[in-house]
Amino acid sequence: MSKRHRPIYVTEPHLPPLADFMPYLEAIWQSKRLTNSGPFHEQLESALADYLGVEHLSLFANGTLALVTAMQALRITGEVITTPYTFAATTHSLLWNNLKPVFVDVDPKTCNLDPDRIEEAITPATTAILPVHCYGFPCDVERIEAIADTYGLKVIYDAAHAFGVRHDGESILRHGDLSVLSFHATKVFNTFEGGAIVCPNDKIKRRIDHLKNFGFADEVTVVAPGINGKMNEVCAAMGLLQLEHIDAALATRSRIYRQYAEALAAVPTLQLIGPPEGTQWNVAYCPMLVSDTHPVSRDALYDRLKAADIHVRRYFYPLISSFPMYRGLPSAVPSRLGNAHRIARQVICLPIHPGLGADEVGSVLDILLAAD
Ligand SMILES: *Cc1c(COP(=O)(O)O)cnc(C)c1O
Repeated sequence: MSKRHRPIYVTEPHLPPLADFMPYLEAIWQSKRLTNSGPFHEQLESALADYLGVEHLSLFANGTLALVTAMQALRITGEVITTPYTFAATTHSLLWNNLKPVFVDVDPKTCNLDPDRIEEAITPATTAILPVHCYGFPCDVERIEAIADTYGLKVIYDAAHAFGVRHDGESILRHGDLSVLSFHATKVFNTFEGGAIVCPNDKIKRRIDHLKNFGFADEVTVVAPGINGKMNEVCAAMGLLQLEHIDAALATRSRIYRQYAEALAAVPTLQLIGPPEGTQWNVAYCPMLVSDTHPVSRDALYDRLKAADIHVRRYFYPLISSFPMYRGLPSAVPSRLGNAHRIARQVICLPIHPGLGADEVGSVLDILLAAD
């Protein structure tokens, strides 16, 4: 086994040379424009819309505030159908809006909301569906749209993992009423902290722009009890710089994924999961299922890796539906969420980020492949 000098983390932010960031900081110091739709904020909104292939987007201080605001923008009420297999922020955004989450099980192939199970969860109080493109795997957007149209529901996609993902040649972010991105330091594209709501038209973007600025429509008109969700100029500048490197970063992620996939192909009880056919994937995560028949248990593998200073994560264990604030809901009963529970019990997300060398991936594989 090769000798390593640093720990390996499941993810690490990709940082361009610091010198490249200095001109941006100098411009901010000179203009004294620190926030409130400054020049870098405006530039990043249009550069990202171009890069992602969407009509409009509204930048946010983080993805969680963007999710909370998306529910406000569409005036969602009552019950919202969602997945238990996600990060806490997805479901918490509902509680912050006084909405009731209704959990529906996931499709075992994609880890995303199972369209076959959505209709049975609809009640007269249902107003929206909040699916997640988990790991950057596209949801079955056509089936979800058909159900939403039939029942008159809104669809808000938590697209925190789906930066740059395309399906059948089109951005996955063009589906639903709104899609929400996260630019947190751990994500594929980062602005330190940040996020965005992808908007299909100018009208909804304007409403969201007001909501993220305390509800101000102009200097003297406040149209809603808005929040402070604005992205500042330093974060927007970081986004502009990151955008120059994103294609190289995505290519490196694909290369690392292939290295894992080739080595693990020989072990049927350690199964990498990938996106559906027709996906141009961002390799945001590298999820692997440790089958119940594998000689080493998932948690024992996790401990072995940790002992070797390799810090993998069990995204998404525990399930959101087992958190104290959700487990009392009728839809949180484990027997109704069998697929989600099994995946949460078996999953390990392997280290994947553009700074990871082939030798480091080799060290991870040495431990995974070690004979019992
Ligand atoms: C990261 C993440 C969020 C929250 O984004 P922040 O920018 O960290 O607030 C929401 N949903 C999912 C699925 C995430 O992974």
